[in-house]
Amino acid sequence: MQTRVGKTNSHKTFFFNCLLCNYSYETPMPYFISEELPKLVDVEPYKLERSFKNGNIKFYNNYGIKGLQFRKSVGKVEAGSMICFGDKIEIIRGFPKIRRTLMLYPSLEIHFNNEVAVEEKMNGYNVRIALINNKIVAFTRGGFVCPYTTKKAPEIMDMSTFFIDHPELVICGEMVGSENPYVTHHYREIGKLGFRIFDLREKGSNKALPVQEKVQILDSYSLPRVNFFGILKIDEAPERIFELVLQLGKDDREGVVIKDPKMEIEPIKYTSSQAHNGELEYAFTYPFDFGRSFFFSRVIREGFQAYELNETEDEIKNRAHKLGESILHPMINTIKDIAEENPASEDIVIHVDDLKEAEIFVRHLRDLGVVATVHSFEEGKAIIRRVHQSTTDRISNFLRGGLY
Ligand code: ATP
Ligand code: MG
Repeated sequence: MQTRVGKTNSHKTFFFNCLLCNYSYETPMPYFISEELPKLVDVEPYKLERSFKNGNIKFYNNYGIKGLQFRKSVGKVEAGSMICFGDKIEIIRGFPKIRRTLMLYPSLEIHFNNEVAVEEKMNGYNVRIALINNKIVAFTRGGFVCPYTTKKAPEIMDMSTFFIDHPELVICGEMVGSENPYVTHHYREIGKLGFRIFDLREKGSNKALPVQEKVQILDSYSLPRVNFFGILKIDEAPERIFELVLQLGKDDREGVVIKDPKMEIEPIKYTSSQAHNGELEYAFTYPFDFGRSFFFSRVIREGFQAYELNETEDEIKNRAHKLGESILHPMINTIKDIAEENPASEDIVIHVDDLKEAEIFVRHLRDLGVVATVHSFEEGKAIIRRVHQSTTDRISNFLRGGLY
């Protein structure tokens, strides 16, 4: 039996109690950070101490998970990493950033070896799912436990046998669909809410399984994965990938992630013109709630894509037309809305059991820095209203004659 009198983990105390052998151990948290953590994550102690002091490594205690959350990367440990304190210490590393190419040729040839694996890039939100203390827990990109995803993911797919056989693996995937609370996108084969797995990674090391092995394992457990378009020879890859991306774009899909079949070299992403315009359209609906680099980078992608595709005058004109519309239409609509006294807001639909669950989700959004309220709840359907405050305030000010 476990007894814990007055002992619990906090930003001051690290407490460990093994349920199997009843061994227990208590030490000040700063000592754990400087003496134990460096061995666990292979990072120099002073870097970890500094991050803990700056608040970039924070004690986390929410939804039954206690641990240390990496708000920023430290050494090779990615932002979003979680050191979970359970009946053993489990390390869920952050999902690595995927860099982008603007020129398929010659990027791919320079970056990869003889062959590349090509997968569809799904447009949703990044989730890591792992077994922590024998419970299936879903983390957001930043390393927060997401109560909504933790509940929904097991309803969407049965991970129980997979995790019995592979407790040391982390499922990395994208939550997608038109009714998801972070990034909504309609996919005809998914509808409201679905999950697509793209990586299986080891706890602790973050090592990813080779692409084909991953596909084979996921298929053997009937777990849903992203579309795998096959392995291409490097010299035919740019041309084939353009065909794929143009077709994906026509279907209003995002693009591809190009991977080393062995997963030893970091992947690269490449996206469709429709994806760039879609993101611009969304961002220009709330122009003052996005950083300027967001807009700039989408426009740059269009320039390089047109160049690499060697487009004709007409094709460029068409591209320019769509780009302009994606910028101006949403912005003008928002100005009109605000002129009519409506705040720049966005309604998010989620399906929950009761009002309380919707409120828990809103609290979680606030933890992430998002201003939101439960607007309505009826028959399991909650509408969460998210207000884009900077856009509302600044546009109102300009409408009243404020100077820019
Ligand atoms: P990043 O920091 O990785 O650049 P971002 O928020 O800018 O992240 P994206 O531009 O959407 O994100 O591209 C990377 C993300 O794409 C990954 O974090 C992952 O969630 C998502 N993704 C979708 N499909 C795949 C796939 N097949 N393989 C890898 N990642 C995928
Ligand atoms: Mg994305």
